[in-house]
Amino acid sequence: MFVGHYGPTFAAKALQKRIPLWVLFLAVQLLDVFWSIFVILGIEKVRIVPGITATNPLDLYYMPYTHSLDGALLWAVAAGVVYSLVRRADGWGNGAIVGVAVFSHWILDLIVHRPDLPLYDNSMKVGLGLWNHPAAAFALEIGFLFGGMYLYWRRTEAVTRGGCYGMLIFGVVMIAIQAVVFFGEPPTSDRGAAITALVLYFALAGVAFWLEKKRVPQTGHRDVLLCEPAN
Ligand SMILES: [Zn+2]
Repeated sequence: MFVGHYGPTFAAKALQKRIPLWVLFLAVQLLDVFWSIFVILGIEKVRIVPGITATNPLDLYYMPYTHSLDGALLWAVAAGVVYSLVRRADGWGNGAIVGVAVFSHWILDLIVHRPDLPLYDNSMKVGLGLWNHPAAAFALEIGFLFGGMYLYWRRTEAVTRGGCYGMLIFGVVMIAIQAVVFFGEPPTSDRGAAITALVLYFALAGVAFWLEKKRVPQTGHRDVLLCEPAN
């Protein structure tokens, strides 16, 4: 899963406005951020096998540190604790939300991956394989993303036109990214795929950092579906 991971991001932000949006952007992809770094360093392994699923050509045969169930739980707890310690004023409740956001990655991956997600270390691999059903997998990604974005959209309002149209453009760009991931040419190398993913995760977190300054929690009773800035 790729853009669908950002559904829980926006939903969490709609739920708890104190957590920075860019933090949630990185939280839901934290397992993949470290997967990218570990693949670049040769600690975790992937090979490109076109056709291994109908949409995703990655044979993810060794990723026990980031995508095992026990590993994912540890990353989630660690992220929640680190967030709580760094932002003490937010309290442990918001740290828990960050932890749940991190763990949501594994649950959503479970739906789409072929059985390559280990329950423990590198064994007992699971995955429901929705990647083999392109239309359904694509609809799920977009459905999750736009479901979360809708909640965020309703709970916030734009202070500039950028905060309004930026959100719409972001949605379109995310659909395009998902289409390229699913239906574009397979990556030429494992490390190339990891580097591209890593750059994308931080670029999108940068967009979130910008977007959050252009939208504020909704105060009035305006129809926020209209693309009109508050000021
Ligand atoms: Zn993943």
